Amino acid sequence: MTTTKFVLSEDEIPEAWYNIAADLPQPPPPSLNPGTKQPIGPDDLSPLFPMALIGQEVSTDQYIPIPEEVREAYKLYRPSPLYRAHRLEKALDTPAHIYYKNESVSPAGSHKPNTAIPQAYYNKQEGITKLSTETGAGQWGSALAMACNFFDMELKVYMVRVSYEQKPYRRSMIQIWGADVVPSPSPDTEAGRKILAEDPDSPGSLGIAISEAVEHAATRDDTKYSLGSVLNHVLLHQTIIGQEALKQMEQAGEEPDVVVGCVGGGSNFSGIAFPFLRRRLAEGAKTRFVAVEPEACPSLTRGEYRYDFGDTAEMTPLMKMNTLGHTFMPPGIHAGGLRYHAMAPLLCHVHELGLIEAKAYHQVACFDAAVQFARTEGIIPAPETSHAIRGAIDEALAAKEAGESRVILFNLSGHGHFDMGSYDRYFAGELKDYAYPEEAVKEAMKAVPDV
Ligand SMILES: *Cc1c(COP(=O)(O)O)cnc(C)c1O
Repeated sequence: MTTTKFVLSEDEIPEAWYNIAADLPQPPPPSLNPGTKQPIGPDDLSPLFPMALIGQEVSTDQYIPIPEEVREAYKLYRPSPLYRAHRLEKALDTPAHIYYKNESVSPAGSHKPNTAIPQAYYNKQEGITKLSTETGAGQWGSALAMACNFFDMELKVYMVRVSYEQKPYRRSMIQIWGADVVPSPSPDTEAGRKILAEDPDSPGSLGIAISEAVEHAATRDDTKYSLGSVLNHVLLHQTIIGQEALKQMEQAGEEPDVVVGCVGGGSNFSGIAFPFLRRRLAEGAKTRFVAVEPEACPSLTRGEYRYDFGDTAEMTPLMKMNTLGHTFMPPGIHAGGLRYHAMAPLLCHVHELGLIEAKAYHQVACFDAAVQFARTEGIIPAPETSHAIRGAIDEALAAKEAGESRVILFNLSGHGHFDMGSYDRYFAGELKDYAYPEEAVKEAMKAVPDV
């Protein structure tokens, strides 16, 4: 009998996150204070983050222990299952073996609770009772709302306006878990009011929502800020995915030839990739890594690698990353979680070192892949996740072309049960592909500071 699902027991939940910073041949460039252009220190970050997370942000320890309380909460949905996609393989008539790690089994429906839970926990440990954050499609806002609820904390969520209107049920989830959610740009912050004055109909963007959430925390002594992607400690927490997948691929008796994931801010891809990348760095494994992003917002494939702000209103430190410009307004693709102007600095550094590849796809091709996946494997993926599936299917078709039995592992970052409006539009033939917005990027790059 063949095996479809590789499962671990609760006591096999990893005891540590993996920190790739310990193993890289060169350290990543530091983030800079935008005023002094000097590397930031803990004092620059302490108004926004608890010391434990600031420590993780700069740590070079190879493994960082997962607190027992966090492992306890992880048990609600972890270890997540690893699947062999027998039916998809058959439909593609490929000699490739396709595996996927299913992060859609979390209560929030995505990988986001993997970092929401420890972030809420560490804040609570340091006496913080209120957090602010932004959310695009609502995946992060809902995950953090759930985690804050577990640790009895208050949360204010600034939700990108287009998503607030397009994805009303993620807004409902945020409310069920007890958080306060407003559409961004909002009249509640200076940054929001400024954008609304210029454009009362602004659809919002992640960059704007980050500015609002950061301002909210920076102007209140009792509130800290929480970010769902991009930062080192977020990527660190997500390595729980790859740490588990290492054990599960061992159970399956296979080594991935290629690891695929979608990238918005870069956290789920880094989460599955970095533990396997360790083996390439330390043991010479030949694994390839493919990060897949939307053609409409292609920061890793087209963005310049230079210092830029993480948000529209220039409130964050300067981070060296592949950027399309912090004022760039990505087209309204349905993968809201991939509409970010830049990418995690640590992942960009790994990309610069030539350790990973990046690829961009148009959204209709991704929805084609998502539907093929749903019709073979059953799971209806999130529009973000459809990019990883497109990438994995193309790897499987390339293996078929080459007549090689390659092993492909991808991360199923979330389900699409609250994205039915997007699927409806796909089936109605109303989804369009957006050409790379070259002029808008050129314009936005003018606002990127010279460092
Ligand atoms: C947020 C999200 C993403 C993109 O974020 P990363 O930090 O790049 O992982 C991808 N898939 C899903 C389901 C998400 O919720």
